[in-house]
Amino acid sequence: MSMMNNVEHIGIAVADLVAAEVVYSALLNSEPYKREAVESEHVATVFFKVNQTKIELLEATSPDSAIARFIEKKGEGIHHIAFEVEDILAEMERLRNAGFTLLNEVPKPGADNKLVCFVHPRSANGVLIELCQEIR
Ligand code: ZN
Repeated sequence: MSMMNNVEHIGIAVADLVAAEVVYSALLNSEPYKREAVESEHVATVFFKVNQTKIELLEATSPDSAIARFIEKKGEGIHHIAFEVEDILAEMERLRNAGFTLLNEVPKPGADNKLVCFVHPRSANGVLIELCQEIR
């Protein structure tokens, strides 16, 4: 019955994507499988995959980006944890009814062929939570 699945990826805010890609390539001993700019979010991303676990490096491409504001406030580091969901609309409804604050009224297209919605960190003990559903 649970519609919240495994951790799909962990998002890490970085100041310099090229430098961070070198670090994470060495750390994970693997090359990224995808590089993608998400214009609507003003971010550039690089994705690694280690077995089932994905790491998303995010760099701001504009000072208006949430990633730019995050780094300004907190510095580089873990930005969000993303859970895979079967039915993002149903999960959004469930969380709304449970009193969580959602940052998106409707799911929006995210990186890596996903529909996404974010849960406000205020609702989740300081952690930004992403729900993501694969676009089939
Ligand atoms: Zn993400």
